[in-house]
Amino acid sequence: MSDHEIDTSILIGSLRAEYKTLEAMVKIYCKDHHGTRALCDECADFLHYALTKLDRCPYGEEKPTCKLCPIHCYKAEYKERSRIIMRYSGPKMLLRHPILAIRHLIAGKKPVPAKPAPNASNRHKRKSLNR
Ligand SMILES: [Zn+2]
Repeated sequence: MSDHEIDTSILIGSLRAEYKTLEAMVKIYCKDHHGTRALCDECADFLHYALTKLDRCPYGEEKPTCKLCPIHCYKAEYKERSRIIMRYSGPKMLLRHPILAIRHLIAGKKPVPAKPAPNASNRHKRKSLNR
């Protein structure tokens, strides 16, 4: 595995789909701004960070879209990067990745759970399966 390949197999179900959406957005952004064929170090670092956050999200698969989430789990620096990437790539997603884009739009209509269920995070489930 090269430095820039990220192991998404640790994520289950909708969390993996959400990661794929994010990855597609980062790739669009990186290609247009950093001129890289794959991902530059900075964008790869961002995706690693995002993957960790998805893994640890206390909502687990019930996770609302990040825009609606009451928990602000990103550090300021990454939150800002995320905002810039979404603003650029968001509108391009419908054309380039319509299925991911529509899935994300539908996810945005789901009500936000009031409180995460106990031990719902991907990380917790992963550890309890001893993976
Ligand atoms: Zn980049």
